[in-house]
Amino acid sequence: MRIGIDLGGTKTEGIVMDASGDIVLRERRPTPQIQGYQAILDNIKDLVDALEKQAGRQCTIGIGTPGAISAVTDTLKNSNTTCMNGKPFKQDLEALLVRPVRIENDANCFALSEAIDGAGREYSVVFGVIIGTGVGGGIVVNKQLLTGSQHIAGEWGHNVLVANGPACYCGKRGCVETFLSGPALQYSYRELGGDTQLTAQQIVEQAETGEAVADTAVQRYLEYFGQALSVVVNILDPHAIILGGGMSNIQRLYTEGRKQLAKHVFNDELRTRLLINQHGDSAGVRGAAWLWEADETPD
Ligand SMILES: [Zn+2]
Repeated sequence: MRIGIDLGGTKTEGIVMDASGDIVLRERRPTPQIQGYQAILDNIKDLVDALEKQAGRQCTIGIGTPGAISAVTDTLKNSNTTCMNGKPFKQDLEALLVRPVRIENDANCFALSEAIDGAGREYSVVFGVIIGTGVGGGIVVNKQLLTGSQHIAGEWGHNVLVANGPACYCGKRGCVETFLSGPALQYSYRELGGDTQLTAQQIVEQAETGEAVADTAVQRYLEYFGQALSVVVNILDPHAIILGGGMSNIQRLYTEGRKQLAKHVFNDELRTRLLINQHGDSAGVRGAAWLWEADETPD
């Protein structure tokens, strides 16, 4: 049995997953962000205790959370739960739970879940993409995460797409994220003279009804999408790319977006499958559970 925990800024969700990947228990709690770091640790321990009590056994524990995890110190950075940044989260949690835990960022967990038993299950090289408030990615090869020497494998969201483009929170300019996130589409729509109040989803809906400004903004978005993803395809050449996050619901990504991608890839045909995720909001928590393999024990 595996426990997977998705530690977000507002909620902490835990599941118990059986060997076949079925979720047998699920519990959600608010993340006590205001009370601070120790309260977040205690909250996770309480959640683990409650799940194990119901499951009647000890489980492996994997955790998915936004932000980058240092390959050297296992501390978090760029987490939106800011009190977590710079803390020895892994060590502290292992001491509290008296066993090893595994931690990965949420994009890697997403990719792992979809590659093991989601939309990418039939493919050996899978690139999992999150396009929502931010843009992230994870690489899975033969059902194993590829994390890399400094734990940034798959972070295509911070490749520079347009030199001297919009400022990104990471400190650079013109990152992929500044063109493909939900807020980026809103920004582009406003710049073209569109309604400043519309959400990214509403802009997509407006484009579907034929509204000219929204359609232009979405078309530009699809061009950037193809261009940005072609860099990943040229280097990794995955068998399948699985899209997740709020923006993955744009149907045109899988038709026009794919054509844009084909245009930029270094090949006269594009064989890569471009697929929507299968596990939706559960992919993160499932991927966290899958961080432990079947033949591994938590001692
Ligand atoms: Zn950036």
